[in-house]
Parts: sequence; structure tokens; C-alpha cells
Amino acid sequence: MTATTEPGRGRGRQVLFDETARQQYLAAVADGMRLGEAAAHVGVSINVPRRHARTDTAFAARLDDARTQGKKIRDDRIPHSEAHYNNQQCRHPDCRARAREGRAHRRQTAAEPAPVAELRDARAESPISFSLLKAS
Ligand SMILES: [Zn+2]
Repeated sequence: MTATTEPGRGRGRQVLFDETARQQYLAAVADGMRLGEAAAHVGVSINVPRRHARTDTAFAARLDDARTQGKKIRDDRIPHSEAHYNNQQCRHPDCRARAREGRAHRRQTAAEPAPVAELRDARAESPISFSLLKAS
């Protein structure tokens, strides 16, 4: 590790986003933090890394990599579910199983005309019970 010997400007604002901060920022982004969160994490405004990426192509490339990695990590943190299967095209065994269960459940409920049948029975019964009641 080399000690950062910044030219003595004396004001300190320029070293806000020094190499150490850049590395921490990129690590945070790669770990799945949003750009704003990562900037806050190293104590700079969201505009500082953005501006820096515009002038420093090496940093911009590293940031790109970090963002790709971070996005993957964020996606991996989403719990496996039927929605994950449908929206993220996840083909993890858990997601496949949930999606299969979901489809089976919808088929089953669609094939059950039970409430309608009960209603029909009740209607068919009532005139009889009504007439019996009247006849007694
Ligand atoms: Zn999944």
C-alpha cells in the first residue's frame, strides 16, 4: 500500500473521492448497493462518482463492471418465487417448483365448479321444502 501523497492543496475538497474512496465505492456498488447508497456510503454526493466517470475512462470501466456484478447480486437476493420465474426468467429449481405449483393450483381451481353446483342444489331444494311446508 502506498500512502497517498496528494499535492498540498491545503483545502482538502479534491481528495474527497481519492483512490481509497473510489475502491470503497466500487466495492459497495459491486456488492449490490445502488449508486446513491454507495456514494453516501463513502461520504460523497452521487454526482461526484458520476462526474469522475466522465473524465476517468478506467474508472468508468471499473464502475461498469461493478454495476453488472451488483445487479446480479441484487437479482440473486430476490427470493425464489413464481414471480421470479415469470419476471426474471429464473430457472432455479425452487422457482420451477413454485411456478409448477402455481399453474397446477390455477388449473385445479378453474376445474372446480363446486360453488355453482351448491347454488343450483339449494335452488332446486327450496321449492320442495316450501311446498311441503305449505301442505302441512
Ligand atoms: Zn428464482
